[in-house]
Amino acid sequence: MKPRLLDDCFLHDKDRLLHEEALSLLEQRISPIVETESVPLEKAGGRILMEDILAPRPVPWHTNAAVDGYAFAHAHYNMDEGTSFEQSARIAAGHTLEGEISETGTARIFTGAAMPDIYDTVVMQEDVTTESRNGTTIINVPAGLKKGANCRLAGEDLQSGDVVLRAGTRLRPQELAGIASTGLNKIPCAKRLRVAVFSTGDELVQPGEKIDHGQVYDSNAPMLRGLIESTGAECIDLGVLRDDADIVRQSLLEASKDYDLLLTSGGASRGEEDHVVETLNELGQLHMWQIAIKPGRPMSFGQIEGCAFAGLPGNPVAVFVCFLLYVRPIILRLSGGRWPEPNRYRIAAGFQIDKKKTGRREFLRGATELDEQGNLRVQKFPRDGSGLISSLQFADGLIELDEGISEVHIGDPVKFIPFSEFGLVG
Ligand code: AMP
Ligand code: MG
Repeated sequence: MKPRLLDDCFLHDKDRLLHEEALSLLEQRISPIVETESVPLEKAGGRILMEDILAPRPVPWHTNAAVDGYAFAHAHYNMDEGTSFEQSARIAAGHTLEGEISETGTARIFTGAAMPDIYDTVVMQEDVTTESRNGTTIINVPAGLKKGANCRLAGEDLQSGDVVLRAGTRLRPQELAGIASTGLNKIPCAKRLRVAVFSTGDELVQPGEKIDHGQVYDSNAPMLRGLIESTGAECIDLGVLRDDADIVRQSLLEASKDYDLLLTSGGASRGEEDHVVETLNELGQLHMWQIAIKPGRPMSFGQIEGCAFAGLPGNPVAVFVCFLLYVRPIILRLSGGRWPEPNRYRIAAGFQIDKKKTGRREFLRGATELDEQGNLRVQKFPRDGSGLISSLQFADGLIELDEGISEVHIGDPVKFIPFSEFGLVG
């Protein structure tokens, strides 16, 4: 049975929420709604783990050589003067021992080969001299090797029963390596969240089509697809909704039956041509509307039956910022992941703001650069306006100005969130 959203998932009793209030409400109220499926290891990249993974055996399984060289027993070695050993055996990685092993002798050994029980130390092949005496190979090991040198102990990476990964972890290449090291190849992952997207607006036309006076190309749909897919969720683009209350109502109702989360962009305010908010009130519950931020104030959250809903503003910059701040964590959490909190870095401002409105939090598009002394500073996009799509290619992160800030001087430390903190890389 698929878990369903709570009826009062985003409910609150304030007119306008501060950014932190909105986030903490979302964090507390949203829980995973996806089912678990078993995914082959080679397909598990980017998926979210639904159960803890424990090591079924030690990793590495055997104590083994960390270098190509010669294995010997430290008890028969003179650390001050060095020792000459007779080589009587050979062990290659993945093979059993060839020859006769002797407690006082040495075995040629290669990186990754299992150490024989009677040996505990390896000397690198570059550090020895070899000679032949009466048909026997003698290995002259120099002084100074500590017991256990150049060996990797069984279980030094993971002991049997250690937690390899916790449920809720998104599987990056490094996690896939960790899972593979335990021998597992069927991974309990969250089913991908199905996120449907509508653009809204009579003025919208699709790239590739002819554009007429008063029209604008739909930039939000392709941007949202990329953003949604960067979270590991599936994006279903349901096209453009005309600014018509009946069409909006009918389309949202139908989509709410088929998908886990609906996103709209545009039509989010209270103008006569904006139908998203009123429709949500009619069809389901609008739980949160209006956040004291810039850009993105009319951001709304709600649900239609068990389908979660987020109404994004129309301006592309506001869509981008609101997606990263609110929708991305919602998607990750609904998908079984952990609530992500991006790190902020304090960087010197390379810009000045004479007057910022207090009481709301502002997110500016920022680009980092080095000043003449080689110190990092951040510039803001020189022009304001949340319709300026070119500002999004300029930026490599968001500058965050808290509610209490009323001005910024050059050199002031400001909070900066690199886009990589939102999973946007490359
Ligand atoms: P709205 O919130 O619907 O009033 O839209 C605010 C502004 O964003 C208007 O200038 C719209 O034309 C613009 N806009 C809305 N949706 C899109 C879109 N999908 N692509 C580009 N611009 C859009
Ligand atoms: Mg509109």
